[in-house]
Amino acid sequence: MARQRQTGATGPSVEVDGGPEGRPRRIGSKPAAGLYLVATPIGNIRDITLRALDVLAEADMVACEDSRVTGKLLMLLGLKRPLLPYHEHNAEKAGRELMAHLKQGAVVALVSDAGTPLVSDPGWALVRACIEEGVPVTAVPGPSAALAALQLSGLPADRFLFAGFLPGKGAARRAVLKELESTPASLVFYEAPHRLPETLADMAAVLGDRGAAVARELTKMHEEVVRGRLFELSQHFAEAGPPRGEVVVVVAPPGAATPVTPDDLDRRLAAAVAGGASIKDAAALIAAETGHQRREVYARALKLFRSNNE
Ligand code: SAM
Repeated sequence: MARQRQTGATGPSVEVDGGPEGRPRRIGSKPAAGLYLVATPIGNIRDITLRALDVLAEADMVACEDSRVTGKLLMLLGLKRPLLPYHEHNAEKAGRELMAHLKQGAVVALVSDAGTPLVSDPGWALVRACIEEGVPVTAVPGPSAALAALQLSGLPADRFLFAGFLPGKGAARRAVLKELESTPASLVFYEAPHRLPETLADMAAVLGDRGAAVARELTKMHEEVVRGRLFELSQHFAEAGPPRGEVVVVVAPPGAATPVTPDDLDRRLAAAVAGGASIKDAAALIAAETGHQRREVYARALKLFRSNNE
């Protein structure tokens, strides 16, 4: 077992009014040496945290995926720091260079293009190396598309599994979905918009007709959350075509009560009865489909068909 004493980012700070837009500015001490994992906005620049500003302002260097993206962010924040590219194609070499600076006592901030570093983004190998070398690592938490999508999905958020990106090829994607099929938790996936229709179709085929949500362009001007069941979402995006912008898909746990409205329940009951099912069978079927209590759905069905027949 290894225990590392945490430095905390900066300790207590004095804040004064000032800076662009009257933002409270921290004055005083430089952060202790080490690696800082700094989350940055996923669309809305005002989601930058005060602590992220403190660390970015004082870092000896900022390791980033794309220096154009991070250069623009720092410019908008009114900061200028030396940038060092660190991405999946140069992680080994750049990692060694960063480690040399860290061992000499540098303050290094690691950011990704957007959101929380390491979450489907580079950084894990560098964190491992720091832990092995005894270099302090500090998280400066903030925005992440996965958590924002989970919050807005309307699906259970007490237990979830972040599954990152699924494989791009159908057979491999379905194999991963099969592995996740009985996970008793909401599932959170990142996905490229052009793959969304086929991914939703595979999810419906492998996971069944569960509740789900597609969260698009979170925190941006065109933010949108489309909630429904996997079959209808898959049909919707097959017809509408791939959406514009960035998306996260959240899928309900197996057997979870899904966010069907009372009207939706009635429509489903009516369709089942119109298809020849008895009221009792229709209630059992819809209860199984939605995860709602059988008793509750039966009571609703009785009320619905009684009032329809009166
Ligand atoms: N580390 C980042 C985070 O914490 O959110 C995620 C980086 S991952 C390479 C990029 C993926 O995150 C996108 O393909 C998309 O699935 C999701 N994403 C990022 N920003 C988003 C946004 N504003 N709205 C919806 N999804 C977003």
